[in-house]
Amino acid sequence: MQPKAFIHTFGCQMNEHDSGRMKEVLEAEGYALTADKEEASLILLNTCSVRENPENKVYSHLGQLRHLKKASPELVIGVGGCVAQQEGEAILKREKAVDMVFGPDNYMRLPEMLERVREGERVLMTKWMPRDKKIQNFIPEEWVERGHVEGCKAYIAITKGCDNFCTFCVVPFTRGREVSREPDNILREARDLVNRGAREIWLLGQNVNSYQAGEWDFCALLDAVSEIDGLPRIRFTSPHPNDWNDRLSDLMAARPNICNHLHLPFQAGSDRLLHLMNRRHTVEEFLAKVRYMRSINPELELTTDLIVGFPTETEEDFEGTLRVLEEAEFSQIFPFKYSPRPKTKAAKHFADDVPRRVKEDRLARVIALQERINAERVARYVGTVQEVLIDSANPKQRGAMNGRTDGHRPVTVMDGSLEIGDLALVRITSASGHWLTGEPVEQAIPAMC
Ligand code: SF4
Repeated sequence: MQPKAFIHTFGCQMNEHDSGRMKEVLEAEGYALTADKEEASLILLNTCSVRENPENKVYSHLGQLRHLKKASPELVIGVGGCVAQQEGEAILKREKAVDMVFGPDNYMRLPEMLERVREGERVLMTKWMPRDKKIQNFIPEEWVERGHVEGCKAYIAITKGCDNFCTFCVVPFTRGREVSREPDNILREARDLVNRGAREIWLLGQNVNSYQAGEWDFCALLDAVSEIDGLPRIRFTSPHPNDWNDRLSDLMAARPNICNHLHLPFQAGSDRLLHLMNRRHTVEEFLAKVRYMRSINPELELTTDLIVGFPTETEEDFEGTLRVLEEAEFSQIFPFKYSPRPKTKAAKHFADDVPRRVKEDRLARVIALQERINAERVARYVGTVQEVLIDSANPKQRGAMNGRTDGHRPVTVMDGSLEIGDLALVRITSASGHWLTGEPVEQAIPAMC
């Protein structure tokens, strides 16, 4: 009987990408993917350590898997991703049900790890790949044209790691220093994904717009990807404001297939805190870039990350954050209460001195303000016609499909004849929260045109 594998992915799009690659590797090894862990003979947790208490979440998940291992001792359990890199051997010591622990540099070596587990070993694979060159094709050559297409979407990792060392962020310690792939290597992967049905490609990097491979910067790469025939949508994440420039804004505004959505994290509305965070830009520099983008591209949808309660944050600092929200008019925010992450400068050198109830109060205030801003923005959609890429069936309503606008707003389209990958022109009839509902106004552009 064909063995089955279940992968649980936590965290960001980069982890989604890595899990997609793992799926391809496992399928080549003869596994079928399953959404039911009870029937799996291999369970992988691809973990994230960006938010609060991620280690505890992983151990709690592993605790839940223990009974499956007890019932089927041949079940193989692996922990990958950032928590695996950070905790390493501690996971094997603490959780006896785990057979293998591997970091983000090692997921392509799953066949070797599985072989060693079959031979009775408990495997720890958290060694970094060499970072001696800044340009490295870190996807093995035989896998470049075997990327994973999920529905109609695909992710391409164009860089790996990060050199920024923002003082709150664990990523440089779990993903290592930054390296960029050669442009030809990336473009080959992109063309292959389009040939295999990808309608939307995401270019990924921890700091995606610091991509640099010889003469090629991120703008040149994005330009080249946007010229690939048959690719109606390109997105990318996450850019750093410090590496954002007018050339990128101009390119986004000029190219219809580069989606009209930008996730640009600003983190704090205080120059003093931005300096403590090592963000290397000021509030005014961030806002000047936003103003320029809005001047040439008024329909742009902006989203962001921000932190409340960073060490020493005063009420005045926090009010600066509220002012940025008012001016930038984001369509969505991802706010976090600060929590120290291991190895980071903030954890080592700054006291976590903003009381929990103050953090919670500030979080509630940014959410309330953002709800008001979003309500105003989302209401403007009602009555407009939007191009929607259909990406899934609506799980709750028969005869309805879900998709995303160019600006990445989720939409329910009341037409069950649409298929995943269709681009539909949709008249928006109502809006609720972040979500839109609408009806097609003409025949969709089919997935394979
Ligand atoms: S840019 Fe800063 S926040 Fe983003 S991954 Fe790098 S260190 Fe972390």
